[in-house]
Amino acid sequence: MRVLLVEDDPLLASGLQVALRQANYWVDHVSDGQMALTALASHDFDLVILDLGLPKVDGLEVLRTVRARPDHTPVLILSARDSAAHRVQGLDLGADDYLTKPFDLDELKARLRVLERRRTGTSTNLLQLGALEIDLNAMRVSWEGRAVELQPYEFKLLRKLAESPSQIFSREQLEASLYGWGEGVESNAINVYVHNLRKKISPQIIRTVRGIGFSIQAVDER
Ligand code: CA
Repeated sequence: MRVLLVEDDPLLASGLQVALRQANYWVDHVSDGQMALTALASHDFDLVILDLGLPKVDGLEVLRTVRARPDHTPVLILSARDSAAHRVQGLDLGADDYLTKPFDLDELKARLRVLERRRTGTSTNLLQLGALEIDLNAMRVSWEGRAVELQPYEFKLLRKLAESPSQIFSREQLEASLYGWGEGVESNAINVYVHNLRKKISPQIIRTVRGIGFSIQAVDER
């Protein structure tokens, strides 16, 4: 889950990055509205956390521009502007949620999970594909009822594939969804994770589409 954090308060930004990474989000951080617009034009994010009082371009202007592109990436506004009029304005401009500062970290994480569920069209935190079950909240995976221990990147890769079971992902798309900017990617990292997932879950769980990429194989419960 790749999150763009747009926040100009350095203390809050670094605290949020630590907390969200612990919750298994990949977080890219920018500190002004112009950088946010550039980042959103050039990278795919699964979620955006958007401050409103920002240098260079105000958060509401960022939102207006993004939605006019059109870019439908879910946006949660996180702002000290706490009047009902501000909330209405933000939501009307296309934000998916609005949380006022100061905020509770657990509430922020719960709201992010709601946005993720909405994005993936699921109403619970459980993704189920045949014998495969992924608990997005607890970050637990089971196969034919038995728990499977996965490393964080293996979990992220499996989740990415399982969220769009009909889609074939190129290696580049998978790398982009797993890693942030400037993160050194081992050239064979995706192959290693795919290998591990097949070994830990089932040899058939991931299909290799020669010359194109990978997709999840919905294997029926036997
Ligand atoms: Ca601010």
